[in-house]
Amino acid sequence: MARITQLLDAGQTLSFEFSAPRDEAGAERLRQTLARLSLHQPQFMSVTYGAGGTTRGPTRDWVHTIREDFDIEAMPHLTCVAHTRDDVAGIIDDYRSDGIENILALRGDLPQTAESANQAFDTAAELVSFIQERADWDIGVAAHPEGHPMARSREADLTHQAAKLANADFALTQFFYRAEYYEQFVGQLLARGVDTPVIPGVMPPTNVAGIERMSALNNTEFPSEIRERLESANSAAERREIGVDVAVNLGRELLELGAPGLHVYTMNFSRAASEVASALGWPAT
Ligand code: FAD
Repeated sequence: MARITQLLDAGQTLSFEFSAPRDEAGAERLRQTLARLSLHQPQFMSVTYGAGGTTRGPTRDWVHTIREDFDIEAMPHLTCVAHTRDDVAGIIDDYRSDGIENILALRGDLPQTAESANQAFDTAAELVSFIQERADWDIGVAAHPEGHPMARSREADLTHQAAKLANADFALTQFFYRAEYYEQFVGQLLARGVDTPVIPGVMPPTNVAGIERMSALNNTEFPSEIRERLESANSAAERREIGVDVAVNLGRELLELGAPGLHVYTMNFSRAASEVASALGWPAT
């Protein structure tokens, strides 16, 4: 197994993101998705974490499954909202005993009604420092090229993101649909002296309502020309073709811009992610 910085040193990486399913039907689908996408020999896969610990066990179990059953490096996400220091220390120790070497450190979002009285960390940057004290791992963080929705200002957001990335080994971005947002963001980081590798996240837009909801939550633009193309489609298959086409064109532009890799958001489905990977030079073998 390998550290993500070593994988990045070897060339542009392909990675896929999954989330722990809620039921047995979802688990069966994810196993099939993993089997299909592993054929593209991605450099790593990542598994999300339910903010507040709702998927604590399942995230760990799926990361273990990917590493053991598919022989692919897997990285757990970890959010710190609503966690005490002891909670996080326990999770880190658990991963250390399982041989984990990479982690994505996040703040996470809790529903506004949820309690977070015992929360030890307010930001992902604080979580990164805590992990660094306890484990010799590669630590990734989230990056928001279009700005975080709760930022006080674009400038405050960039200052925070630059400081967070400067202390991390790599970053994975929120999805976005214009390569220029990535180019500008990386340029703004460089202007602040930060050259941490930023792996862009690519989400094939196959579902208008889903992208609309996530874009509103994450402060990402859903370009009208993409929406109009999707709305003119007559079937789910046609929408998938359009979504793959958009993601392939965006991915190609990002790779040409020198992005260190591509992180494909799969929503636990294999087909669109597989078509994107194949078209961008990572065929199933
Ligand atoms: P932070 O970096 O702590 O903060 C986010 C923003 O808050 C900053 O960009 C900045 O604008 C502001 N801010 C924070 N601290 C300061 C400061 N000191 N000064 C000024 N401004 C500040 N969520 C999950 O629940 N589970 C997951 O598995 C998960 N995976 C993700 C994976 C990726 C690749 C991405 C991009 C997001 C993921 N998220 C996940 C969502 C994430 O938890 C949310 O976007 C959350 O709102 C912010 O997390 P963060 O780690 O970027 O937070």
